[in-house]
Amino acid sequence: MMVNLLDFDLPGLIGWCEGLGEKKFRATQLFRWVHQRGVRDFDQMTDLARDFRAKLHQLAEIRELPVLQRQDSSDGTIKWLFDVGDGNAIESVFIPEDDRATLCVSSQAGCAVGCRFCSTGHQGFSRNLTTAEILAQLWFVEHTLRREFGLQQRIISNVVMMGMGEPLQNYAALVPALRTMLDDHAYGLSRRRVTVSTSGVVPMMDRLAQDCPVALAVSLHAPLDDLRDALVPINRKYPIAELLDACRRYLPAAPRDFITFEYCMLDGVNDQPEHAQALINLLQLRGSAGVPCKLNLIPFNPFPASGLKRSPTEAVQTFARLLMKAGIVTTVRKTRGDDIDAACGQLAGDVLDRTDVQRRVARQRTIEIIRAQA
Ligand code: SAH
Ligand code: SF4
Repeated sequence: MMVNLLDFDLPGLIGWCEGLGEKKFRATQLFRWVHQRGVRDFDQMTDLARDFRAKLHQLAEIRELPVLQRQDSSDGTIKWLFDVGDGNAIESVFIPEDDRATLCVSSQAGCAVGCRFCSTGHQGFSRNLTTAEILAQLWFVEHTLRREFGLQQRIISNVVMMGMGEPLQNYAALVPALRTMLDDHAYGLSRRRVTVSTSGVVPMMDRLAQDCPVALAVSLHAPLDDLRDALVPINRKYPIAELLDACRRYLPAAPRDFITFEYCMLDGVNDQPEHAQALINLLQLRGSAGVPCKLNLIPFNPFPASGLKRSPTEAVQTFARLLMKAGIVTTVRKTRGDDIDAACGQLAGDVLDRTDVQRRVARQRTIEIIRAQA
C-alpha cells in the first residue's frame, strides 16, 4: 500500500523523508506543497529534486476521500458525505459566517458514546478515522473551495471537531491532525481557532493539555449526574465532579481562559428553571469550585429515532436569561444548514439510508476502476 502523506504531521513527514535519505527542509517543502498549495501531483512540486520526486511517485500518494454526496444549503452551509470504506460514510460541514469560516470535522465513523439525543450516537460505532482521513476533510474542503471561489488566500479560519465521533476516543490519530492544522507550514490556524469538543473523556483531556492544547468545548447537557448518566452515558465512568476537575486542570494550558460548555436543550428533559439553577450552582465561581466558562445552548435538532423534542424558544430564552442573571456568559447557537440536515447532531453518515450509501460506494468504485484503466 502506498504511504498516504496526509497521515503525517511535519515531524512525522521529516522522519519518513529522512528514512529516504532526504534532508529535513525537503520534507518541509513537500508538506507545504501538500497542505498550503493543495497539490497532489509530485511533478508540479517543481522545487523538489527530480530523484526525490521519483521516489515519491513510487512510494507515496495524497489519498483523498471519495465524495459520495454534496449538499449546499440556502444559507451558504455546505455538507459533504465522504466514503471511508465498508459502507461507512462520514460528514464534514462548511459554515461561513460574517467574521469567520468554520469547518466541522469528523473524527470517527459512528460513535461509541451513544448519547440519547445524537444521531451519530444512535448509529453505533464503526471505527476510528486515521490521521489522514481526519486531515483529508480539511485538505479537500479548503482546496476545493479555493478553486471554486477563485481565491488564493486561506478560506477556512476555524476548525471544530464537532462532526461525527468522539475525538478524545481517537486520540492517537487526532493529535497529529491537530498539529497539522496549527502548523505554519500547513494551515497555520491559531490554537484558539481549533476546538476539540468532547463528551468528557477525562484522562484524555489531561493528555491534550500536555500534547496539543487547543480550545476545548465540553458537552455537558445536564447539571446533575442522574440526568447526565441517562443522556451522556460516559458520565457513569467520568461523573460531573471529575469532569469539572479536568476542566479546571485544562485551563492553565488552554489558549483561552475559559471552557465552552455545550448544552443541548431538550423539551421537558433538561430545560426547566430548576435545571438552570442547578447549572448555576455547579458552574458559578465560588473559590476553587467554579469553572471559568461560557455556556452555549444548542436547540435540539430532532431526528426520528430520538423520541425527543426541541425546547420551545420561550424555554430557551428563559433558561438563558436565568444564567446570564447569575453572571454566566450564555449564547444560543444559531442553527445552520438545517435544510440539508447539517445541523449539530444530525450527522448520520450511513445510518439514514445504508443501502443507498452502499450503492453509491459501489458506483464510485466502478467509476474509479474504469478511470484507472483509461
Ligand atoms: N463527540 C463530541 C463532538 C461531536 S458532537 C461531543 O459530544 O462533544 C458535537 C456537539 O453536537 C456536541 O455538543 C453534541 O452534544 C451536540 N449534539 C449532538 N446531537 C445533537 C442534536 N441532535 N441536536 C443538537 N446538538 C447535538
Ligand atoms: Fe458521540 Fe458526541 Fe454524539 Fe455523544 S454527542 S454520541 S459523544 S458524537
